[in-house]
Amino acid sequence: MKKKNDISILIIYTGGTIGMVQDLKTGSLIPIDFKHITDHVPELSKFGYDLQSFSFDPVKDSSNIDPDVWVSMAEIIEKNYDDFDGFVVLHGTDTMAYSASALSFMLENLSKPVIFTGSQLPIGLLRTDGRENLITAIEIAAAKDKGSALVPEVCIFFDNELTQGNRTTKLSAEHFDAFSSPNYPSLAEVGLHIKYNINHIRYPARNKKLIVHKTFDNNVAILKLFPGINRNLVRAVISTKGLKGLIIETFGSGNAPTYKWFLDDLKSFIRKGGIIYNVTQCHGGSVEMGLYETSREMRALGVISGRDITSEASVTKLMHLLGSCSSREEVIRCLDKPMAGEIT
Ligand code: ASP
Repeated sequence: MKKKNDISILIIYTGGTIGMVQDLKTGSLIPIDFKHITDHVPELSKFGYDLQSFSFDPVKDSSNIDPDVWVSMAEIIEKNYDDFDGFVVLHGTDTMAYSASALSFMLENLSKPVIFTGSQLPIGLLRTDGRENLITAIEIAAAKDKGSALVPEVCIFFDNELTQGNRTTKLSAEHFDAFSSPNYPSLAEVGLHIKYNINHIRYPARNKKLIVHKTFDNNVAILKLFPGINRNLVRAVISTKGLKGLIIETFGSGNAPTYKWFLDDLKSFIRKGGIIYNVTQCHGGSVEMGLYETSREMRALGVISGRDITSEASVTKLMHLLGSCSSREEVIRCLDKPMAGEIT
């Protein structure tokens, strides 16, 4: 694909509700081809930009997106990186925050916008939110200041708000305002004007070459705690064959039961070389290990604090680090520091 105009944007269509229609046999929504989207947004031709597209084949409901698809997305960006000013990724909303988080870890030294968007209602419906989302995502991907991209990050644009991808979480299966970034300010708000929050956008060091990390290790699990959790369940998870990293979704500021059996089980997993990452179930705020007695003992065992990371960013970061680091110590070191702005 070659650039024709001054500003060129590559739209990568992976699937999702935005391009779905109702299957006449089953009545369920299924994704169809990219032409269906462009047919419903003739305004796209009014952009003065060179808009080109790449479509996955087959396109997917985002529940079927996995690390192999993240690698394919990153490879499309890598292959077209020099020829385009920005990238818009059309993606189902269900796992959009996972994919945006994964890409933020994969694309080191990114200096161009990668803007994920999609919609809650299919583009063919009169009240669709897809048209506005797509048009503004393109506008943001094309935005420049003194020749450089205004938002050179992996972001999610949805319902008039631009958020950092690895800080975002899907909160609503009903509202157009489906996403939230509870622990980091929006990067832009869209009304009559697009108001960029320049102080919160991350700008890369100049002239560094894009490095694309493509290995993930999915020997991870998320254990969500609840009052009354049964030891058999905890043991079954911890003794999963090949498990290397366990995320515990804890209460409040990182708290968990202080039952002896619970701490003993965590200890034995760590002794065998496992890594435990403490991430809060709360949608806002941070893990603070040691604030309560109910987290102090976990810290003493070597459980690592996820601080204010989202669940989506924690699992993609852990898979990325297990896939790319050369030692357990390196994974632990990297978990503890921000790699792409995912923790404060
Ligand atoms: N199930 C759809 C998906 O994630 C939902 C959506 O796009 O909003 O692909």
